[in-house]
Amino acid sequence: MTERLRFAPSPTGALHLGNARTALVNWLVARGCGGALVLRVEDTDEGRNVEGADQRIFDDLRWLGIEWDEGPDVGGDYGAYRQSERRCRHQSVVAELVQTGAAYYCFGDVETIRAERLAASEAGVPFEWPGRAIDAQEAARRVASGGPAVVRFRAPRDPVRFVDGLRGETGVEADQVGDFVIARPDGTPTYQLAVVVDDHDMAITHVIRGQDHLSNTPGQVALYDALGWTAPRFTHLPLVLGADRSRLSKRHGATSVAAMRERGILGEALANYLVLLGWAPPDEGEVLDAMQMVAAFDLGGLSSTNVVFDQDKLEWLSQQHMQRLPAEVLRQRAMPFFAAAGARFSDDPAVRAWWQHALQLLAPAAHRLDELPSQSAPLFWKPAESPSATLDGVLEEAVRSFVAAASAGELDTEAGFRDAARAIGKHTGLRGRGLFHPLRKLVTGQDTGPELARLIPLIQLGSRLPIEPAVQSVEARLTAALPSSP
Ligand code: GLU
Repeated sequence: MTERLRFAPSPTGALHLGNARTALVNWLVARGCGGALVLRVEDTDEGRNVEGADQRIFDDLRWLGIEWDEGPDVGGDYGAYRQSERRCRHQSVVAELVQTGAAYYCFGDVETIRAERLAASEAGVPFEWPGRAIDAQEAARRVASGGPAVVRFRAPRDPVRFVDGLRGETGVEADQVGDFVIARPDGTPTYQLAVVVDDHDMAITHVIRGQDHLSNTPGQVALYDALGWTAPRFTHLPLVLGADRSRLSKRHGATSVAAMRERGILGEALANYLVLLGWAPPDEGEVLDAMQMVAAFDLGGLSSTNVVFDQDKLEWLSQQHMQRLPAEVLRQRAMPFFAAAGARFSDDPAVRAWWQHALQLLAPAAHRLDELPSQSAPLFWKPAESPSATLDGVLEEAVRSFVAAASAGELDTEAGFRDAARAIGKHTGLRGRGLFHPLRKLVTGQDTGPELARLIPLIQLGSRLPIEPAVQSVEARLTAALPSSP
């Protein structure tokens, strides 16, 4: 039988890291076994739906590299993949459960009932669900005469047991399940009912979701039993926690996938990071691309303890992935960040090639795409009109020699720069740091930065291209530091 998995987000806001991890694990398991991944939008709680949130979730998933085989925007064999479009089907299952006596109309205010149940449990006395004992005809009469009622599932008498993929056999006593609501007074089905009907109808074989749903599972298993359906397998993923060991939430800062993207973290790095939460690849390397993740991931190897989110590790992975990007891909990913910083891009192939080289030079020191514009400062630096410090004799001589070498095109290549520097060093007696530190300072305004032998030819090439902002040549930068001729 083909394995069928699903990711079932509610369109109530941004996709957060915990849910993104759930989606990723479902995708990895589906791809790893040649199964199908279904995307289902669980929009039954109308009051909580946020306009456009579903589309943003789809975009975030695709940015992470997660593709699904069936879903609201790609279709599939099972009809509608939005829960709200399946309401008639859900309502007919509710009606069937009422008819067989597995569910009943419960009259009374839900909040009052909850409080009374709590009080009964604290007092250690059995709780009587209002309406449970009313016979079906009487209930139908009261519903017809407009009495507001929810429909409750009649909880089983026996404990509910099921096997969790990470925890093994688990379950709860019957009274912990309680007679839960499956349809609201306005007739709309609740999540508990809709999720069971949809997972069954969509032939889902394995439900993988966050541990926060563990308490819902016994009720769902009981519903499968009452309907005579086989329940899927269940695996509940441990939670992702913040540094203070509480569940990762907005309190911990930016924890949405969109916020990570806006910060310039790479999608492949975030996916790589999320898969390493509670799982270690069998081989040593932790930097994995999508194919490597699919090949290596093993759900059974996932730890069953909660995991702590570590921004530093994510940034390290982002740096690693950035260095592995093909030059043109890196350029395209970086462009929006440079555009936001005021740079403009032309389609001139020489300009494009220049940016590719520039970004490859800068990438090793950057963790995120948004750091690249500030790290490109040495390329675009312009000296002040009047020099702030005077050069001493021998340094002035070295600078004049570099100006001459630059004007003669000798600094246009890495080898040319090295030859010129060697000759100038020999001639002036300035060597190593004594030569390169002042040179760097005069050319870039900074004390540290990328290797000069690579940086300087790039500046020279850039100064002859229509780049915006303009790149000033090395000779112009150095000349500005020289005392003007009398
Ligand atoms: N819609 C639920 C949520 O977003 C997921 C339900 C499930 O996976 O069963 O938390």
